[in-house]
Amino acid sequence: MDTYRQENMSKNVDQETRTPNWSAGAGYIDGKFMPIAEAKIPVTDWAYRRSDVVYDVVSVWDGVFFRLDDHIARFRRSMNRYKFNIKETDEEIRTILHKLMALSGLRNAYVAMDCLRGQAAPGVRSPVKARNYLSCHAVPFSTLVPQDKIERGIHMMVSSIPRIPHACVDATAKNFHWGDLNLSMFEADEKGADYPVLLDLEGNVTEGPGFNVFTVTNGVVATPDYNMLEGVSRASAMDICAELNIPFEVRKVSVAELRDADEIFVSSTAGGVIGVSRIDGRILNNDRPGPISEKIRETYWQKRLAGWHGEPVNYELE
Ligand code: PLP
Repeated sequence: MDTYRQENMSKNVDQETRTPNWSAGAGYIDGKFMPIAEAKIPVTDWAYRRSDVVYDVVSVWDGVFFRLDDHIARFRRSMNRYKFNIKETDEEIRTILHKLMALSGLRNAYVAMDCLRGQAAPGVRSPVKARNYLSCHAVPFSTLVPQDKIERGIHMMVSSIPRIPHACVDATAKNFHWGDLNLSMFEADEKGADYPVLLDLEGNVTEGPGFNVFTVTNGVVATPDYNMLEGVSRASAMDICAELNIPFEVRKVSVAELRDADEIFVSSTAGGVIGVSRIDGRILNNDRPGPISEKIRETYWQKRLAGWHGEPVNYELE
């Protein structure tokens, strides 16, 4: 057997019982549940051929979903924005996500809900007649960067590739148009940075691949208001600023302001709040996340562990 198959067999199949390994994750496609290794879509699907997908991702930490209502509501808004229609209601989506968690038994997970365009009858090229469907999966939780980089802070660079303009692709609807984000990650890699941040065509900060961006200048936190996903973790960071009496502004943030900021941090479902220690090679805060960023990060996790906006997973399988 070749190495690839051997590795995947051992990951996805329990070697003693030869049964599928649900703990690697669980999938749901268009009405059926399956171990993650079996969750596949046809190569002819427009979801694949045209990146025609809207999606959302919610995290589970210590057996508790975080802001599940907000993620399902945003998912529904994204579906409406891009004219997707599925048979499942919001309540049914919630039940499916709980069942995926129960099947996998995972305590910490990344739980995705995707709406795929599907296909129309042979020969039809317009998406108007396609039958859309829901695909969800739960896999082990992962963060934007590993723990040691969370502690030392993300090394960020400003990408030369602008974020696709809002007028072309509405970034507030979470979607698979990742061409700009993907290429900018190659650019970051070539420059030895962990992550890029993308600007709009006027040179204002938008977001990065999988996260929103914040600056801290003279004790005031600022985050962009346009041409980016309105992150659920971004909303959480704003709530925490309000609670901690940290002044907060939602407005245009220029690249000059980013480069001169006292602190920078990012927010994402993949890790919560994470500090930045370098921007384009400039060292911030002795090469560590800044104190306000750290305070917000710690508060985020304290509140989550205390059940803030939490919905415990129902691990009972009916
Ligand atoms: N921006 C983009 C492009 C994203 O893909 C994500 C999340 O995946 C975010 C921002 C952060 O959003 P959230 O906090 O809801 O995870």
